[in-house]
Amino acid sequence: MPNPDVPYSLSHNMTRTEKCSRANCGQAVAASLDGEAFCREHFISTCYTRLDQYEEIRTGPGLSATNTDSVRRFIHECTRSADEIEHAGLDLDNLDRAKLLHIILSASELGRHLRRSPRKVATIAVRLSSERLGGAWEEDTETVLVSRYGALVRCKHPAKSGETIHVIRADTGEKVLARVAWQRPSGNDDTRIGVEFVACENFWGLDWGAVEEAR
Ligand SMILES: [Zn+2]
Repeated sequence: MPNPDVPYSLSHNMTRTEKCSRANCGQAVAASLDGEAFCREHFISTCYTRLDQYEEIRTGPGLSATNTDSVRRFIHECTRSADEIEHAGLDLDNLDRAKLLHIILSASELGRHLRRSPRKVATIAVRLSSERLGGAWEEDTETVLVSRYGALVRCKHPAKSGETIHVIRADTGEKVLARVAWQRPSGNDDTRIGVEFVACENFWGLDWGAVEEAR
């Protein structure tokens, strides 16, 4: 029990746990991530930053077994907190509400990829084709890694994140629409892009169950 004669240490502790951990913020705590307490605004911005980082890793080098656990923990924490804030927040404006729902959706997509996307080192010859207005290009190249939902592909052209391109298999001529999800920063002579198929099951024709078991 706290001693009522020495209220300082108690109030000091409470102050520490009730205020956002960001320097110079001072807003009331809305949620915590990895043991760090954040106000609503900083919770949202931290979630966005982390989701972007994981997306870059996932579509680029790939999430390894070592960081899968921390990603799962993050998904769990941020989904639960975003959901709580969204339900409890009577003073939420529409923009904050939309951001929280976007966080929940993005986290669940990240989780879906963790569960269902084994990747396989595979060199498959493809042609990339961009029909961007004023900057259309084509490139014959090859994949570095493939997954059920996309691939990591060598690409010399300056593909932009979010841009849609076509991926055409050199062997079968099959064509699929894909979104550029990630690009290694330019200035590297072995540039790769991560692409995600917009709507396609098993473009690579691989037995993903067997790939998963072989991991
Ligand atoms: Zn804050």
